[in-house]
Amino acid sequence: MILMIHIFDFMANITQEQRKIISDELLEILACPKCKGDLLLDEKNSGLICESCKLFYKIEDGIPIMLIDEAIPLDKIKRR
Ligand SMILES: [Zn+2]
Repeated sequence: MILMIHIFDFMANITQEQRKIISDELLEILACPKCKGDLLLDEKNSGLICESCKLFYKIEDGIPIMLIDEAIPLDKIKRR
């Protein structure tokens, strides 16, 4: 019975993890390639935002594209 509960816990954890586009652990080690600053996760647009550089880094298939050349200016992402 105890084993069953553990399995359910394990399954619940997997489902929770999949809801995020990238893990918190990965987000913590990632930094902006331009200013080396912290990044904000934008789950709606599936990407990472550097607020100081006003750049948006895409996340494709769970892999953040951390290249300045591939970054998109923030004003092109958020339409006001
Ligand atoms: Zn930056």
